[in-house]
Amino acid sequence: MNNPLTSHQLIPPSLDTEAIRKDFPILDTLIKGKPLAYLDNAASSQMPSNVINRISAYHLEDHSNIHRAVHTLSEKATAEYESARGIVKKFLNSRDSKEIVFTKGTTNGINLVARGYGAKFLNEGDEILISYLEHHSNIVPWQLLCEQIGAKLKVVPITDNGDVNIEQYKNSISQKTKFISLSHVSNALGTVLPIKEMVAEAHANDIPVLVDGAQAVPHMKVDVQDLGCDFYVFSGHKMCGPSGIGVLYGKAELLEKMDPYEGGGDMILSVSFDSTTFNEIPYKFEAGTPPIAQAIGLGSAITYLEHVGIDNVNRHEKYLLDYATAELENIPGLRIIGKAKNKASVISFVLNKVHPHDIGTILNDEGVAIRTGHHCAQPVMEHFNIPATARASFYLYNNKDEVDQLVSAIHSVKKIFGC
Ligand code: PMP
Repeated sequence: MNNPLTSHQLIPPSLDTEAIRKDFPILDTLIKGKPLAYLDNAASSQMPSNVINRISAYHLEDHSNIHRAVHTLSEKATAEYESARGIVKKFLNSRDSKEIVFTKGTTNGINLVARGYGAKFLNEGDEILISYLEHHSNIVPWQLLCEQIGAKLKVVPITDNGDVNIEQYKNSISQKTKFISLSHVSNALGTVLPIKEMVAEAHANDIPVLVDGAQAVPHMKVDVQDLGCDFYVFSGHKMCGPSGIGVLYGKAELLEKMDPYEGGGDMILSVSFDSTTFNEIPYKFEAGTPPIAQAIGLGSAITYLEHVGIDNVNRHEKYLLDYATAELENIPGLRIIGKAKNKASVISFVLNKVHPHDIGTILNDEGVAIRTGHHCAQPVMEHFNIPATARASFYLYNNKDEVDQLVSAIHSVKKIFGC
């Protein structure tokens, strides 16, 4: 089917990608002699030189353990680590730095809340509501909790466009619902959920909400006070930062009353063999030596994104998404999976009977890096009755030429498979 969008209807690109690409030396890599088109950003994005240099400078000049010494290097490392927390606080428009807990990533943040809040405040017979769109990270921790306490997991279905039906969401909330955990953006389909509206509905029923923002924070302005959510989690490695670092934002009054997730050094005020007094938030949730260099790197990544302008990033991605959608819809036999009205820059697709892994392998021969598989969202695949998709996902440094490279590589797949 021809897409009605013509190129003059597309939102014009708003970023100088030529200049931005110079910040990411890895993008000059050749893959099998072809220029790399890195379209696997929903899995992990690349890091600009200034983030890599910032991490390197920390290791070269300031490395030490934090919070526990009076010597100069420790004081510097502590100041840099806490400064990164301040950058995150401002970026999310949180009320206070104590609401920012550094974690290993999104998965770790969700498990922390499932254990620290869920295991303490939920009871047998209670219901936890999630959506059909969730990443396994936002399913399994709740399943484990349900098994432990005898609660029940309830799932809001999706439409064939890959949207969550808001009426069904509202109808799924009952007296028994005691916690709601939702993706802000689906990693498998790109659907953007109307989180503010969904949180308001939950709060009208006195239910706390966690938002999995792994695919949102890198690509759009997130203001936790405006969204009103109780918890918000994301990962550094999808937003120009390093792996091994993530953030849990939690409203102070909730973090205060939660149990710690892990025990160990730094999360205590005093320890004896009889009892332990826990440190104040956020340290209560940061047991042991944290990922110091990674937190500093995340702070630097946020500074970089703020410099470019997150709204500019969002507009640029919308341009790429619209262009790529129009081009892909022109390829006979290609079916885009997930056509929600409000989508982030993720395109999942299947091509005739070609297995997505074969698509990915042939695209790699053409220099195009995409992800293939179930994207840790098997229920979504089940809904569409497919085992896997091929997924291209864009970021600030991608350009129209790379979309053209993707399209041309898909034509190579069709040629090889004669379809
Ligand atoms: N939720 C979503 C929506 C994701 O896309 C991902 C990463 N693919 C995760 C959770 C898990 O993130 P991490 O592996 O960084 O913990």
